[in-house]
Amino acid sequence: MSVVIVTGVPGVGKSTVMAAAEEYGYKIVNFGTTMFEEAQKEGVKDRDDMRKLAIEDQQRLQKQAGEKISQMGDVVVDTHASILTHSGYMPGLPEWTARALNPDVIALVEATPDEIAGRRSKDATRARDSDNIGLHQRVNREYAAVAAVMTGATVAIVENHDNQVDVAVEQFRKLLGKLLKKHRILK
Ligand code: AMP
Ligand code: MG
Repeated sequence: MSVVIVTGVPGVGKSTVMAAAEEYGYKIVNFGTTMFEEAQKEGVKDRDDMRKLAIEDQQRLQKQAGEKISQMGDVVVDTHASILTHSGYMPGLPEWTARALNPDVIALVEATPDEIAGRRSKDATRARDSDNIGLHQRVNREYAAVAAVMTGATVAIVENHDNQVDVAVEQFRKLLGKLLKKHRILK
């Protein structure tokens, strides 16, 4: 079984880059959507309200989503290394979630803070917070490193610069290709 976790700050374009996974037969699972399905049962109306819930509630929903996803087999998971909450950066892959998902690779999709700010300003469908994008990306690297050390996953950085999404997609595709090859050899 192989699990690839793809992370990146809101607006970096991770979903676009990951779409390449489908051609390899990987199922793409959005962690936020799985969490939101649980949250809606409890009356949460907007996915962008989840990061404003009490930390205990976010962690409970996170745990439920992580357990569900861990039973799905080969997946590429669209998620976050950290979530900016009212009490600081919450790990998206805390010990229990990292161990449940047991990823082979944790990919960080990155761009410059200016590029990301520009992309956010063009997306009116989401309620993005105005925050320090450079800092958030540094925190993400640190949190991803911890999850990697805990699980043995490798960390790959995929750069998704303006007008170069094809380069980012190609880099991601190579990563998946190598992983599939490895698993076929091991089987
Ligand atoms: P997204 O659509 O990827 O921006 O995710 C929507 C929301 O889902 C985020 O703002 C978080 O509240 C929540 N979420 C996504 N992934 C995680 C995670 N690994 N841990 C906790 N919350 C998450
Ligand atoms: Mg997305």
